[in-house]
Amino acid sequence: MTAHVGAHSARAAFRAPWYGLRYLVDYHILRKKLPLIRGLVLTNRCNLQCQHCNVATRGPQDLDFGEVTAAVDAFYREGGRCLYLEGGEPFLWHDGPRRLDDIVEYAHGLGFLTVVVYTNGMLPLRTSADTVFVSVDGLGPTHDALRGASFDRIMRNIQESANGSLFINYTVNSRNKGDVRAFCDYVEGVPNIRGVFFYLHTPYYGHDALELDSVERQRVLNELLSLRGQYRILNSTAGLRSALRNDWARPMTICSAYEKGIVYECCRYPGDPELCRKCGYLSYAEIDQVLRLKPSAVANALKYF
Ligand code: SF4
Repeated sequence: MTAHVGAHSARAAFRAPWYGLRYLVDYHILRKKLPLIRGLVLTNRCNLQCQHCNVATRGPQDLDFGEVTAAVDAFYREGGRCLYLEGGEPFLWHDGPRRLDDIVEYAHGLGFLTVVVYTNGMLPLRTSADTVFVSVDGLGPTHDALRGASFDRIMRNIQESANGSLFINYTVNSRNKGDVRAFCDYVEGVPNIRGVFFYLHTPYYGHDALELDSVERQRVLNELLSLRGQYRILNSTAGLRSALRNDWARPMTICSAYEKGIVYECCRYPGDPELCRKCGYLSYAEIDQVLRLKPSAVANALKYF
């Protein structure tokens, strides 16, 4: 498997910049909005019960391997080359002997340049995915209050992982907003973590106690802007400034999520302009700034992916 992974990485490293360049030419000169990213919801099952999430109650459960490969094939035919595997908890997914990495290998074999896994980090992080984002929402006590006792186990799994491209996803909300700097400090002591990407809490299910008001939102974003030079923060200056102005394009129609036969544009909670106005999904702010050719966003994308 190592030789296979190495061969994929070398091929992808060569092809990815050309793909990015062609995508930008298509977008700006030919005015083509080709699909960029699709998230595949492999399962809605999860092994945590986080305060901010009720995806486990959504209904559609695991895809079988045939559904997965059909969805991967379809996205490839549409022109997509960046695949995200998500849940629920994607490491829980299996279909008989098939496990998550069978999907990663299938997608690589087909020609996907980037396969990314979004995980809660509760299971061993053994995967040949190009990038793994692990959700951690604060230092131990804060994280555990939001997500259940899990911080120590997640950190152990991160430290034991052989994957060379692990990042943290930290979603800032009213309870963990005070941990941001201390968490960045903590990450400095964990070499296995390449960086931290910050999101803001999005009230997908209506207003809730975790929501940041507009003043707090601005304060957090300004703090991130001031910290990003000192720490391994993945958000770019342009992305954070766009978040401050709340002006990135939405819904982001070149990104989509596939859940049991349905493709949702942007995310699984589409069609609510008020929700979109409060959206804190800042990776879309990054993509928007790359498409607008903002240098710090482009440099960031090249540096990390
Ligand atoms: S902008 Fe996109 S990701 Fe954010 S809430 Fe709206 S549909 Fe979902």
